[in-house]
Amino acid sequence: MKVISGTKVRKELLEKYRETIQKKKLKIGLAIIQLGDNEASNTYIRNKLKYTEEVGIESNLIKLPEKTKEAELIKVIEELNKDKKVTGIILQSPTPDHIDFTKCARLIDPKKDVDGFSEENLFSIRDNNEKIIPCTVKGILKLFDSYNIPVAGKDIVVIGRSNIVGRPLADALINRNATVTICHSKTKNLEKYTKHADIVVSAVGKPNLVTKEMVKRGFIGIDVGINMVDGKLVGDFTKEAGEKASYMTPVPGGVGPMTIAMIIDNLIELKEKEK
Ligand code: NDP
Repeated sequence: MKVISGTKVRKELLEKYRETIQKKKLKIGLAIIQLGDNEASNTYIRNKLKYTEEVGIESNLIKLPEKTKEAELIKVIEELNKDKKVTGIILQSPTPDHIDFTKCARLIDPKKDVDGFSEENLFSIRDNNEKIIPCTVKGILKLFDSYNIPVAGKDIVVIGRSNIVGRPLADALINRNATVTICHSKTKNLEKYTKHADIVVSAVGKPNLVTKEMVKRGFIGIDVGINMVDGKLVGDFTKEAGEKASYMTPVPGGVGPMTIAMIIDNLIELKEKEK
């Protein structure tokens, strides 16, 4: 089994991004909006600030109180949409319960939509006219490219149908001529689909969901799941399922590091489209 190392690919990409930003003298500004003080979000944001700053992007965290009203948040988004110094905006999830995250995230100008969650950007993938691709999805596509794994003609099972991972990934893979099956919590007999798949992507968030009995030898496994078990970070595949793979992404160190690299990739893309 060959490990698909997102950590290694990210390192190479960050070097490339730093050079591009320097050479082309790109002035890129990122604004992250956070409501409240969620501990996991604090860690994600720290990383986003660290990696963007390392490549020469000016990042700014706008931390609002937990009880900020939706109308006030919308005002902040509208101001940032107008601000010429801001290339990209991220609304950090999760937001408190009184905020409709999807509605607010979709108010971000599609031309500043780093996460690719706006209707325009999501539909562009469905329409096979891709604009900004959500970071996790783009990260997985980059991993396939980096490891010379062709997807055209492959039977791919995507487990999970969220608007930010499962669905746009399925659309993007169809655009690349894969034959895609989407499974979810109501799928009867998941194994029936995964067993014959050349590539299995699990974007669920359930440890031990994909076992060795459910996959064929030599399959390619992409583990998007993030689960905390006994203080350890694990994915959705069992270790034994991974051992049957020809290529497998580890957790941690697989898809996760790519998501953050793709924030930078999308910011560069947004900046270059500004011209
Ligand atoms: P969601 O909770 O939005 O979606 C989970 C999906 O899994 C749903 O479509 C759900 O089905 C499906 N599902 C739940 N239980 C089962 C089951 N037993 N069998 C089959 N399908 C099931 O999650 P996200 O898409 O936001 O994230 C998925 C995972 O990926 C999480 O662990 C998250 O932490 C991780 N993640 C990792 C990232 C990274 O950078 N590595 C980035 C983003 C997410 P249904 O639609 O029927 O409810």
